[in-house]
Amino acid sequence: MSEKSRRIFLSIIFLGCSQAWANSVWISLFDNSQVQRVVLTAYTGSLTAFGDGKLFTITKGKAVNVVLNGEKLVTADTDSLIGIFEQLTVTADTGATVRIRPVLPIMASRNYEATVCLSADIDRIRMINRLDEKQYLAGVIEAETGAGRTEEFYKAFAVICRTYLYGHANRHESEGFHLCDETHCQSYKGKSRNDAKIPAAVEATGDKIIVDSDSLPVLAAYHANCGGETESAKNAWQINMPYLIPVSDPYCSAFANARWEKTVSVDEWIRYLMKNGFKIDPAVVTDFSFHPAGRTPDYIVNTFALPFKQIRNDWNLRSTFFGVSLEDGQIRLDGHGYGHGVGLCQEGAVEMGNRGYKYEEIIRFYYRNVRLVSASEIQIQIPQL
Ligand SMILES: [Zn+2]
Ligand SMILES: [Zn+2]
Repeated sequence: MSEKSRRIFLSIIFLGCSQAWANSVWISLFDNSQVQRVVLTAYTGSLTAFGDGKLFTITKGKAVNVVLNGEKLVTADTDSLIGIFEQLTVTADTGATVRIRPVLPIMASRNYEATVCLSADIDRIRMINRLDEKQYLAGVIEAETGAGRTEEFYKAFAVICRTYLYGHANRHESEGFHLCDETHCQSYKGKSRNDAKIPAAVEATGDKIIVDSDSLPVLAAYHANCGGETESAKNAWQINMPYLIPVSDPYCSAFANARWEKTVSVDEWIRYLMKNGFKIDPAVVTDFSFHPAGRTPDYIVNTFALPFKQIRNDWNLRSTFFGVSLEDGQIRLDGHGYGHGVGLCQEGAVEMGNRGYKYEEIIRFYYRNVRLVSASEIQIQIPQL
């Protein structure tokens, strides 16, 4: 064994699959899928693998199949069986990434930095990426917002995604990891690779997070486009949050998501309203129009009211912010924005970045009555699992 392999071997033994190092986060991969079988390859460089006492290397061009079999992982390369393990820890050498391609079910491959720990769980291969907080945040920002934005926009998102991480790091503690890689927590699809401004923004914002007046991490909610006015947490979720209040947004109107429309036949609309308790005699009531000046909780006809939130769900609409009119014998819904509308408007933030606003200004525009602090300053940490 070379000195380098020996060092890696010892560090793997030391860390095992059940201990963390400072600033390391543990993320469950492909969390919504019951993955039964994967192919592991080294995207660049090579990987050091360790399965129940057996050390081996996955060099570039070599594929290793891992198949769930009861409580074990049957691990083999194209020629022969490598071993049958309870746990398999795969660590990327410097500059390399662990490429994982699920084949049962078939999914697109993703590349991960640092270490991936595979183990047999009930009906699935549990895969946990253990990596530095900064590497994780860069991956999240890329998955959530894409490439090609301004540096200040990415800095705002670095602070938002870090705030989520610190505020929710115990969300999956009982399952043995901090966060999952799905929208249930924050979307994470592996290493950030498409915009160097993303890891730079994570670095530049240090350990800054957003806190409320009690110095607790805020719920840094965001959505695609608010349509000109953000929604309060009270209207959307029946929770009063002094920092998630309506903000009039002049920045997002030029984006395609700022407007939408849908037409429905009058008969269909009447049937829908009556099903929801409206007492309407179509011969008498002919005016279904409703034009709120801004966001408002309910659609109102005569004395009947129906929450916009329910109409959005029932009709699969892009937002809860729309007016209703009768046009050419049809009901027309004139909508604004895309998403729940609470907190930061992503496209508005893009535009603020384009216009030269600093990330602190972007954050304070959408979240009111908040402070930006260092996580270390308020002594908040990611729990070690
Ligand atoms: Zn989750
Ligand atoms: Zn907006």
